[in-house]
Amino acid sequence: MTLSVNEFAARRNDVLKRIAAAAKAAGRDASAVTLTGVSKKQPDDRIAEALATGQRVFGENRVQEAETRWAGRREDVPDLELRLIGPLQTNKSEQAVALFDVIETLDRVKLAKALKKAMEKLNKHPRLYVQVNTGEEDQKAGIAPHELPAFLKQMRDEFGFSIEGLMCIPPVEDPAGPHFALLADLAAATGIEKLSMGMSGDYETAVKFGATSVRVGSALFGERPTA
Ligand SMILES: *Cc1c(COP(=O)(O)O)cnc(C)c1O
Repeated sequence: MTLSVNEFAARRNDVLKRIAAAAKAAGRDASAVTLTGVSKKQPDDRIAEALATGQRVFGENRVQEAETRWAGRREDVPDLELRLIGPLQTNKSEQAVALFDVIETLDRVKLAKALKKAMEKLNKHPRLYVQVNTGEEDQKAGIAPHELPAFLKQMRDEFGFSIEGLMCIPPVEDPAGPHFALLADLAAATGIEKLSMGMSGDYETAVKFGATSVRVGSALFGERPTA
């Protein structure tokens, strides 16, 4: 099933309107919130439609899939911004540094080492976010909240990284609000400005709690095909 340009544009307008309303209600400026369109697993014609409507910031969770989709489009879309929002294996660091403008899932020292090496080799420095495991879930990536200050210090002192933001994915079974509030508190306490939080089901809540970017997939593109 294809989505017409008008249908994508309508969905996007709706999401942008909701972001604006949530920002206004929280006394924030809507222009401080970036809409990241999560394009993972979406068919190519929907990507073309997204680009045609002016969407420029995209999130992907797999390096290989993102490279296949986006590498050839860079030339035609010079203002494209690609964000890695999924877990990164150290052996894909160089590919990730080469492709992405922002890596949102820095979550361990070993990965920092691999990224540093790749950045020096390629002389390219993507902006970095640290993923925080706000729910302290065993199966989820991210730095535990109480370990964040030491981790950030190590990123600065040992690697020379200036960390732009924090990112979280709340546990599915929890109300998201308290997790977003925690991430905002952690950022304030550590002097970090950007917060990547909120997905299709809870991006308005995230904006209320201070998100500077929201990662919206299905509410923008439609459901991801399961095949
Ligand atoms: C898939 C994904 C999203 C988007 O999910 P939707 O519910 O489709 O909006 C956001 N963030 C991350 C980390 C994801 O993997």
